[in-house]
Amino acid sequence: MKRIYMDHAATTPLDKEVFEAMQPYFSEKFGNASSLHKFGRESREVIEESREIIARVINASPDEIYFTSGGTESDNLAIKGVAFRNKKENKRHIMTSKIEHHAVLHTCQYLEKIGFRVDYVPVDKYGMINVNDLEEKITKETSVISVMHANNEIGTIEPIREIGEILKEKEIYFHTDAVQTVGKIPIDVEKLNVDLLTISAHKIYGPKGVGALYVRKGTKIDPILHGGGHEKGLRSGTENVPGIVGLAKAIELAEKRMKNGESERLERLKDKIIKEVLSNMDKVKLNGHPKLRLPNNVNFSFYGIEGEALVLKLDSYGIATSTGSACSSKSLEPSHVLIAIGLRPEDAHGSLRITLGKENTEEDVSYLLEVLPKVVNELREISVL
Ligand code: PLP
Repeated sequence: MKRIYMDHAATTPLDKEVFEAMQPYFSEKFGNASSLHKFGRESREVIEESREIIARVINASPDEIYFTSGGTESDNLAIKGVAFRNKKENKRHIMTSKIEHHAVLHTCQYLEKIGFRVDYVPVDKYGMINVNDLEEKITKETSVISVMHANNEIGTIEPIREIGEILKEKEIYFHTDAVQTVGKIPIDVEKLNVDLLTISAHKIYGPKGVGALYVRKGTKIDPILHGGGHEKGLRSGTENVPGIVGLAKAIELAEKRMKNGESERLERLKDKIIKEVLSNMDKVKLNGHPKLRLPNNVNFSFYGIEGEALVLKLDSYGIATSTGSACSSKSLEPSHVLIAIGLRPEDAHGSLRITLGKENTEEDVSYLLEVLPKVVNELREISVL
């Protein structure tokens, strides 16, 4: 049976070239980058080369790149690190949006428990943050604001540059979680006016368990892990050399693909799915912004069916997708993102996320468009709704 992977927002397959670049650093080039001998120096050199590659791609300087264990750790480090360091100056207010990834939301909820104040700024029906709302809530106590570059469920791209512009002259640090945008839309930390930016390797055909945090020079930030003082004291722990090499290779290849028109290709496939489904199927709505969305993200709500059943049915036809419906999560509530954009529970329950990637072809999309109406109809026939 055909197997088609359309869940690239969850993770991506490791690129063969990335794997090949990593391989020597698991075996013959195994040195600890802190060691003085040749083995150690070899690892140190490749870490610094990797730092340079990542810095160049996002228009930062190499000493502003810190390696971490992935998006979750980078988000935690950015928010807790800045919050802890600046609270001495009586800055105990944090702001974020209601549709952030849990790596940000749960970090903020934890900070609330230990005495910080957090405002969760609402979004409109497309998942777009209201910049005026955010501006109004800023106080002298605000130390850090975290707004994601693009949402992982509905794909909406947030007005980061605009927010950055507002914050530029203020004594507030601005963090963005760019886990879903790196390699899909160009990232320039200067143009975006951000002070901290989260990167993860496994969403761009790199290895799982490695990422980076961009930290603008001069940012007052404390470490959250204490130990041997690696990464200039901000992130202790022996460096994951193969992972770091994989992240740099993955980001370099993603940049090359973007230059060769991959985002436009994905956009065409995405637009085809949206157009065909909305014009040929009943009782379906598109979630997320119609235009300002990731080139590979499609998110629908099919009325009268359960998203989890839909994902399992599609899987039985060999198509891998995901849902923000209640059953797929551990709680009975549907995804916080779908609730934040104001979906009625019956629409939130029938959500389907399709996220395309570099292996997906026109043929794959045609197969999906052939299977999807069939599966939705079958489920509607047996639905109690
Ligand atoms: N932020 C966003 C927007 C994500 O989509 C993810 C992964 O799903 C993360 C953070 C967490 O990244 P990681 O899996 O590298 O910890």
